[in-house]
Amino acid sequence: MPRKVTDTQSSVSKTSSPKKQYKKSFDAKKDQLATDFLQQLDSRITDGKIGELTESTGGVKIVWSKTLKTTAGRASWKRETVSSKQIKDGVSVEVKQYRHHSSIELAEKVIDDEQRLFNVIAHEFCHLANFMINGIKDNPHGKEFKVWAAKCSKLFGSQGIKVTTKHTYEIDFKYVWTCTACGCEYKRHSKSIDLKRHRCGSCKAALEQTKPAPRQASTAGKLSDYQLFVKEQMKIVRNENPDSQQKDVMKMIADKWAKAKTSTD
Ligand SMILES: [Zn+2]
Ligand SMILES: [Zn+2]
Repeated sequence: MPRKVTDTQSSVSKTSSPKKQYKKSFDAKKDQLATDFLQQLDSRITDGKIGELTESTGGVKIVWSKTLKTTAGRASWKRETVSSKQIKDGVSVEVKQYRHHSSIELAEKVIDDEQRLFNVIAHEFCHLANFMINGIKDNPHGKEFKVWAAKCSKLFGSQGIKVTTKHTYEIDFKYVWTCTACGCEYKRHSKSIDLKRHRCGSCKAALEQTKPAPRQASTAGKLSDYQLFVKEQMKIVRNENPDSQQKDVMKMIADKWAKAKTSTD
């Protein structure tokens, strides 16, 4: 049975024991590392303002996510307006205050070492500064973001931190395999996918290496009727549902397939 590759970033190769040990010790301390680094960023980049703004809501929350796969990290921010009545010189006046709710979500499967952790936090931190200090809502990687990013790269560059307008996951995968039917991409740092053993986790069709581009023509096997249907429907369903995740798109296609089958029977 070919093994299923179920997502774009998890490891399918056998982990060697030193690597496993590293993972274990990293997992044990990553929360503390994240919190400490966030504090350093706040004091050196934003003069403690992020801490002040989020004090009433318990600070910026670090959330490790098992489901975040499309990006290594994600920053969220919400400003709540709280009005209260206060008596000033015998007159009741309405006082408005802001409460900043914010969090940084980190992809558990993508962030597996310190270097990556710090780079992703630095990038997401710049998003929070951009939202909370500059009040920018519609241009996440605009000029204000770039000012924070440059400051981070300058002050933390010696620790290997570089904040760009790209999310780190987009730039550092050396190998990419693409599903011959649904177009789903599998990105890896090493050549860990074996075309004889691994198939697409979404539709089970054969994969082909697309980065670096292979010299020989694809050796992918023939597609089944269902896989051909997926190939034909993928673009259509994606266009109709631009915000849906890959697994939901696959589900819609599977439903379409089921309907097409019953209606012709
Ligand atoms: Zn970003
Ligand atoms: Zn597929």
